[in-house]
Amino acid sequence: MNTRALLLTLVLTATGVAPAALTAESPKSPVIVTNHPLEFIDTSFENASPVWYDFALDGTVLVHLLYDHERSSPNRAAGHIHIKLHAKPGSRLTLEFRNLDNVWNGVSGSIARELKTVVISEDGRAWKSVPLESLPENRVRLHVEMPGPRLYVARVEPYRLSDLDKFLAGIRTNRLVQVTVIGKTVQGRELEMIRIGNAQAPFRVFLRARAHAWESGGNWVVEGLVRRLLKHDADARQFLERYCVYVLPMANKDGVALGRTRFNFQGKDLNRDWDKPADPQLAPENAALERWLEDRVKAGQAPHLALELHNDGSGLLHISRPPVPELARHVERMTIMEELLRKHTWFTEGSTKESFRNSGTLGDGWLERYRIDAVVHEFNCNWIAGLKDYPSARHWQSYGENLATVFYEYFGLVKP
Ligand SMILES: [Zn+2]
Repeated sequence: MNTRALLLTLVLTATGVAPAALTAESPKSPVIVTNHPLEFIDTSFENASPVWYDFALDGTVLVHLLYDHERSSPNRAAGHIHIKLHAKPGSRLTLEFRNLDNVWNGVSGSIARELKTVVISEDGRAWKSVPLESLPENRVRLHVEMPGPRLYVARVEPYRLSDLDKFLAGIRTNRLVQVTVIGKTVQGRELEMIRIGNAQAPFRVFLRARAHAWESGGNWVVEGLVRRLLKHDADARQFLERYCVYVLPMANKDGVALGRTRFNFQGKDLNRDWDKPADPQLAPENAALERWLEDRVKAGQAPHLALELHNDGSGLLHISRPPVPELARHVERMTIMEELLRKHTWFTEGSTKESFRNSGTLGDGWLERYRIDAVVHEFNCNWIAGLKDYPSARHWQSYGENLATVFYEYFGLVKP
């Protein structure tokens, strides 16, 4: 007798229910959904989030997000939302998002409190923010009126692989740009490293976006930065005389393609384990970046500054404090960085407290292992306090544009 049969027998014995009642012949409760305006939730397209759904008695559509899981860990994450509603034009729908019970750093907690807005779009290009309704017990609801037969709903303004391909195609032939493939993802997608400017410039800054698949904000930020540096004006020339920029624009390409939330295709968190060498089988995305970095270090061309870009519900600069002799100098430099962000961008969110340490993140690990001034920069996905507005691709791009000035002044104040 296999385990399942044994278990079934035990259940039947305990309940006294005849075997037929629990097998294929069991009575079925009818699911009555008549005249509901929702026809279908489409998840067939690029970066769509896998979901399943059903209907509550009051007609609310219960949208169950799927968790992705971290290997050898209790951690799990759901929170990427990117679906297309097919429904009667003019109808009013209520959607309730389920499975928000994430586990982060081994601690369980709902992301419902972090989930305050979504964006909607008829064509998947022009997006508008809509606040969500928070209900007790970590429930989150969206009320929408269908402007036409189709409506996209997303957590943040999506940035897909096709958006990156288009971006790369537009800059690749520029003489200030070099695009190098540094490795491949688990599923074999190419990882591009973009260099803007002259490798011999006195300072080098590195940025990585999209270690976590749902967090598209970083992609818009790096687009804004790159476009600013490629404007053929006097400022751009001055910036690139002082520094060059390296960007790994989409670390977790598999996750983005598959509409996952956080981990790579082998269940690795690409913003963890930077305190030790990367595993080339489980996290080839990090192994490729580590190889690239170590080549730069050997060549005497390590980045002076590294920004790891993320989205969350608070938007802080995460200054981690590993026990390194250079810690005081690092904190001082990050204070300068924070001041420049406040001066030249809409940044007002601030930084983490003195007791903060998040081991294994790129910010912490690069500082500890390579003595690089590295920091995780979160972007609030619900609200931009400095603009009193919802986040959007346009606002994130303008942030990136202004980062060009921040880096210019930073490297004017900080000596190697
Ligand atoms: Zn993240």
